[in-house]
Amino acid sequence: MCLDCNGHGTGERHSERNGDSRSTAESDGTNWKRRSLLQATGVAAGTGVLLGSQSDRVSASHTECDSADRWVEAANHSARDHGIDWIVIHVTAGAYQGALNTLTSSDSGVSSHYLVKNYSWTDGPEPGHVDQLVHHDRAAWHARYIANHRSIGIEHEWFDDNGITDACYEASAELVRCIADMHDIPLEFYTSNTCIQNEPGGIIGHTHVPDGDCSSFHHGGRTCPYPDWDMDHFADLVRDGDGGGGGNGFEDGDTVETTVDLNGREGPGLHYDVVRTYPTGTTGEIMNGPETSDGYTWWGIHFPSYNEWVWCVEQYLTHA
Ligand SMILES: [Zn+2]
Repeated sequence: MCLDCNGHGTGERHSERNGDSRSTAESDGTNWKRRSLLQATGVAAGTGVLLGSQSDRVSASHTECDSADRWVEAANHSARDHGIDWIVIHVTAGAYQGALNTLTSSDSGVSSHYLVKNYSWTDGPEPGHVDQLVHHDRAAWHARYIANHRSIGIEHEWFDDNGITDACYEASAELVRCIADMHDIPLEFYTSNTCIQNEPGGIIGHTHVPDGDCSSFHHGGRTCPYPDWDMDHFADLVRDGDGGGGGNGFEDGDTVETTVDLNGREGPGLHYDVVRTYPTGTTGEIMNGPETSDGYTWWGIHFPSYNEWVWCVEQYLTHA
């Protein structure tokens, strides 16, 4: 029994292996899988895939990020009961047009905020094209109840071990930067099942949405969005475009200021606990460092307004 899987917004197409309490979602999952297989087969046979019923819902631009190319309204979404502090990464297990049909139709029981085109050889837009399907202020139905209400969900076209293209990664990285900036989501990437309870926010793959025995989702035996999705590579792309890269040249005694809502940790690495997320513009003094860990440069900082000594990553600090 998974407590967080009940209530509205729980339609979950990755759920076909889950327990018997969610027969509706299991039916949806089965239908999705069948459709995905049909779409994939259609593409492979060169028969093409019709746009279907979502085309008449394409309307004037309501996209919220410049990197989103088109607004295609989804039917399934809910009023949020929580602020947005996470971005959840998914892959579709089906070709683009079929995925778009499913994510926008009411009877699928699922939706997502975004869908990113991955392949050049499937029907639909060019790789890197981004459709927005649900506005940020509504909860899309892409994960479990709590995660839906706390997150933005991004789907990426994928199926049959075909990998993720550079165009898809880069478009999604730009989108993530926009979403994170808009909602003050830390650009930290997690691969553990406890992060939504224990961390203040960041970016995770769907499989790490923690819901007890619902925590393992599968696409034809695979776990969304892995293994094809390379989260380390994606993190590099997101951060590179954010003007990161270090070289700020701090020294002990320098006064620094956070440029985002920035995690301060008990030690120089992502495995250390977060002491606090310091709001943008918090000033502190460099006390220690630099240390290199988890692909970041870390500095030990004293934040006098909190009387706390913590470690923060360099790229979101500037001289005050
Ligand atoms: Zn997923």
